[in-house]
Amino acid sequence: MQKSLTRTIVCQLDIDEGSPRLLTQGQREARRVVNEVFRLNREGYDWDHIEDLVTDRSSHVKNTTQRLVEKAIDALERYYDEDDYGHPRQNHENEFPLRMNHGEGYALTLSDSGAVNFRITAQKRTFVRGTLQASRDQTELLQTALTDDEWRVGTAEVVWRNGRHELHINITHKTATVRSQDTSTTFIGVDVNEDNVALAAITEVGVQDSIVIEYSEIKQERHEFFTIRKRMQSVGQTAFENTMQDREKRFVHDRLHQVSRRVVEWADQFEDPVFVFEDLKDMRDSIDYGTRMNRRLHSLPFAQLQDFVTYKAAWNSIPSVKINPEYTSQECIVCGHTDRSNRKRKRFKCVSCGFQDHADRKAAVLISAKGLQELDRNVPALNNLPVVRVRRQCNGASEPPGHDPVSTVRGHQTDGDSGSVSS
Ligand SMILES: [Zn+2]
Repeated sequence: MQKSLTRTIVCQLDIDEGSPRLLTQGQREARRVVNEVFRLNREGYDWDHIEDLVTDRSSHVKNTTQRLVEKAIDALERYYDEDDYGHPRQNHENEFPLRMNHGEGYALTLSDSGAVNFRITAQKRTFVRGTLQASRDQTELLQTALTDDEWRVGTAEVVWRNGRHELHINITHKTATVRSQDTSTTFIGVDVNEDNVALAAITEVGVQDSIVIEYSEIKQERHEFFTIRKRMQSVGQTAFENTMQDREKRFVHDRLHQVSRRVVEWADQFEDPVFVFEDLKDMRDSIDYGTRMNRRLHSLPFAQLQDFVTYKAAWNSIPSVKINPEYTSQECIVCGHTDRSNRKRKRFKCVSCGFQDHADRKAAVLISAKGLQELDRNVPALNNLPVVRVRRQCNGASEPPGHDPVSTVRGHQTDGDSGSVSS
């Protein structure tokens, strides 16, 4: 079973015509439509009949109403198929997602300058127009999807997030496919940190290999950029701030692309791999923010690295799965004891059974094990780990060939607070 390669592009709306209020009203009407489907379903109407009734009364264009009915019926089907979902209830969120077909409920056009213009039909005969804003990668993808015959622009949703409207656009590659999670045999746990990414490959039989890819230069550069910007602010040179911010973004962006390419190359050596990521939704809460500086440095784009890896992996037909990140840094993989004091910086030592390891590698092993559990596989004993390899991300392409910057660290170190010592 293969899945088509689909990406969701997240865009901000730069509105020229119409107003956010119209979008909010459109979302309220979307909520009313979905609630009406739930109500009619409870009253015993069959699903085909429901669609006709609801479409007649909706002030959304027909296609948008159909997408909304579909969304409501999906929720009902999940409820009837699986016991662990509650009955879909009347929804009272004001900002209910408004789902639309491309070319109907919304339309995108590419301008000569490469900007992507949008038109959203907020309700019948009510239009909101403007320009989309997205990250460089996402904008490039969207431009490709709009011009390349291999891609199709699909449904989009108007979503309310962080106090503003966003447009989430699905684009699908017509032929590329991603292998199903169910046929995967090697689980690649990914532990993203501010100065490295740790990977562990495990199967139902045991741990195959692990590696720590370091990118401390990203942390350093970010620190430097931060200091320079602070200094400029203090002397009132705010004009340069945006330039600095762009330079920093570009730097981090390029490095993360290089790192993600290595991550996917490493995974590709194993049989039928699947990537296992921590679900970042809860992640922000688990980071111990201290000062403002800390917050600044910690805001390393975890999500962006995951995003790049997921995308590159998908092109290699490698699927991804997400797991609950709770306690991945504190839990012992040998005895299961979970304690904050198990971890001291880069060193993990279980206060209960004494097991020791490189803290980030240990987290990656636990993440892959959670991936096995997530897909109902057997989790092997995890007490026999290979040596951790540490690979430095040496300023990108500047590495001479044949000088692979890999060093090794004993998996079970007995002292030192840093597992990532090398040369
Ligand atoms: Zn233990």
